[in-house]
Amino acid sequence: MKKDYEVDVLIVGYGAAGANAAIAAHDAGAHVLIVEKLRVGGGNSAVCAGAMVIPESQETAIAYYRALSSGTVGEEMIRAFAEAMVGIPDLLSRLGLEFTVEPPIPPTFPSLMPGKLKQIHIHPTGESGFRFLEGLVKDRNIEVLTDTQVKTLIRNPETREVLGAKAQRNGQDIQLLARKGVILTCGGYAYNPAMLANFNLPGATDYIFPWGAPGNTGDGIRLATEVGAALWHMAAIEWGRLCAREPSKKFGTAIGYGLGRTKRAGGYLFVNKFGERFMAEDASLSHCKAQLDILRYDHCNAEYRNLPAFLIFDQTYLSRGPIAPTAQMSEKKRGGMVGYSLVNKIYDWSADNQAEIEAGWVLQAQTVVELANKIGVETNALEETIRQYNRACAEHCDSLFGRNEKTLAPFETPPYFSVELGLSLVNTQGGPKRNVNCQVLDHNDGVIPRLYAAGELGSFFGFLYQAGSNYPEAWAFGQIAGRTAAAETPLSE
Ligand SMILES: Cc1cc2nc3c(=O)[nH]c(=O)nc-3n(C[C@H](O)[C@H](O)[C@H](O)COP(=O)(O)OP(=O)(O)OC[C@H]3O[C@@H](n4cnc5c(N)ncnc54)[C@H](O)[C@@H]3O)c2cc1C
Repeated sequence: MKKDYEVDVLIVGYGAAGANAAIAAHDAGAHVLIVEKLRVGGGNSAVCAGAMVIPESQETAIAYYRALSSGTVGEEMIRAFAEAMVGIPDLLSRLGLEFTVEPPIPPTFPSLMPGKLKQIHIHPTGESGFRFLEGLVKDRNIEVLTDTQVKTLIRNPETREVLGAKAQRNGQDIQLLARKGVILTCGGYAYNPAMLANFNLPGATDYIFPWGAPGNTGDGIRLATEVGAALWHMAAIEWGRLCAREPSKKFGTAIGYGLGRTKRAGGYLFVNKFGERFMAEDASLSHCKAQLDILRYDHCNAEYRNLPAFLIFDQTYLSRGPIAPTAQMSEKKRGGMVGYSLVNKIYDWSADNQAEIEAGWVLQAQTVVELANKIGVETNALEETIRQYNRACAEHCDSLFGRNEKTLAPFETPPYFSVELGLSLVNTQGGPKRNVNCQVLDHNDGVIPRLYAAGELGSFFGFLYQAGSNYPEAWAFGQIAGRTAAAETPLSE
């Protein structure tokens, strides 16, 4: 068979899972090659917040993860996951990474786990975590081919063993053989609108903008299913905060991420196409998924009731500074906002919002009637919504949605403004089903020989997600995949 490269372990995708798999396989004596389809590695791992949130003890962890998974994974996997998460501090220390353990935080789902969770932060963000991993990969002289996209896996049709992969490198077809195994660490499908439409969100993908890195287009799902893998956890998805729809469409990634999140004074509210409020604007738009009110589907009328949606605000709100986090802000002021656009400065929101007004992404109007016309909602409805909202501000009580009174400031000082909202997507969880050794499974739970997967491609999480778990999962299970693949008996020539 033609071979441009022949190694023991081939790793597809260079994020945290791929780097950890490479390090573990190398340290177990294997000759390793990493391929990455983009010009630089990192994936979501290099633009993430770098938070690792883990239970204190294995017993608590088992109970909590069992409750979160609600039957989407078996007991053996729950135990293996708990063990891996509780072992994260040891893993980081073993790799030589300095980290801080921050004050414990409440779990994302306190009703499922009373008490608190340990929080580890790779400072300042995932970017530095990835630089650290890159350093370990370089120290070991592990070869990394960037601009190299794996297109298909090579398989022995009789034994079903995965023997390597065909890839495209700078427009050339190349063949990569792996004597021990192939590890898929090529991330999720946040940038694949057709998969999102099929698995998660029919009819609303125009309003959804990924927050992460653009290489995550679901290649791993195609590669694995072509060789018979079963899929799992496709319905599980992590939503991010709101963003500005127009610039996000233009740049193809979430821009203005965190829009409307600010708790500063000044009149601001969200309205839908009927000119109605539909949620508490200060709701925690984190992994509790409060933002999904924007995606409420009205089945009787066959429409997303709250789309399109708009952030509307007055001059007081505008004059307090940028309405979205910017790359110039300190980490603290940004409130942990990271993501592909902010980290790579794809577009940086202006300090006075003027550039966005000039671009037409923020619309300006002298009156509420003009504002209603500009965003295409009925004038009377919008006027009534603003009257109700201002009454709630005067009474210090939002009886409709329970927004915190400290954030209630009247919408009163012209000119008025609006931004059409998009919803951003952190990452997907679905992918090939795997066992505790990260071996990819077929529809009968049989192992597909010499094929492994780790990271967010087929993550543990099939239902509820504890914030701060995907990143440590990528590290821990990348290590497991690398070790197990390196232990395979090599194929003979
Ligand atoms: C903005 C943001 C913030 C986050 N914050 C946190 C957090 O604080 N804590 C937490 O636990 N989780 C967080 N997450 C989730 C977490 O970062 C990811 O789930 C995790 O890092 C995924 O790691 P990975 O190695 O599986 O995938 P990635 O790091 O995404 O790497 C996958 C790589 O595979 C490459 N690839 C894809 N297809 C191919 C192909 N065909 N051939 C070759 N290469 C390919 C991609 O280009 C990419 O580089 C966050 C995610 C985002 C987007």
